[in-house]
Amino acid sequence: MRKIEVELGVVTRANGSALVKFGDTVALAAVYGPAELHPAHLREYQTGILRCRYSLAPFSVEERKVPGFDRRSVELSKVIRVAIEPAIFLEEFPKAVVDVFVEILQADGSTRVTAINATNLALISAGIPMRDFVVACSVGKIDNCLVVDLNGIEDNFSQADINFAFMPNRNKITLFQGDGQLTKNEIKELISLAKKSCEKIYEVEKGVLSGKYSRQIS
Ligand code: ADP
Repeated sequence: MRKIEVELGVVTRANGSALVKFGDTVALAAVYGPAELHPAHLREYQTGILRCRYSLAPFSVEERKVPGFDRRSVELSKVIRVAIEPAIFLEEFPKAVVDVFVEILQADGSTRVTAINATNLALISAGIPMRDFVVACSVGKIDNCLVVDLNGIEDNFSQADINFAFMPNRNKITLFQGDGQLTKNEIKELISLAKKSCEKIYEVEKGVLSGKYSRQIS
């Protein structure tokens, strides 16, 4: 795994925020809400809703990316939402919305899983009621070797890659999205590798959270 760095509360106007670095990939997530949802016809009367917007900054990649919301951003925004939703007690705030904005400030592979980790921490910092953490990492296969936490070059040359998100206390997978060709045994081994990596990430993130909030309480 690459070096993981986490900083909380970096966007003071947001209700919660987190900056997460996996090596040279940098994701910033900011959470706003829960707030009353407008227009009213979008409201769900039995539950709250989560909205996520993923954006890859134009300067985040080597060759400047055209700014704006493209097909990939639409897909990744949805992927982040479905990975996180099972952990939130959305039913506790009917008719309301929680908005998450994720900006990838620098991209070197595995941006969606870095974004999921940042979103989870920003939601916790915002005090959104959660059943569990959602911890995420990528795994894959390069040169017939099974690997964890793919960077940009590794992603480009991989035979297969899987994006994995996991609730560590419930032992539940919330995202399993991949491409390439793998045998059944390789998939089993990659799931086990991904779970082990997520446990490590969980320990780092838990440490940062308890460090920040235990200091505030004392
Ligand atoms: P993920 O970032 O979740 O792995 P992709 O598989 O779509 O998602 O992208 C792999 C990597 O390719 C990214 O992390 C980034 O380093 C690079 N990349 C993605 N989109 C672009 C782009 N428009 N221009 C240059 N590099 C990109």
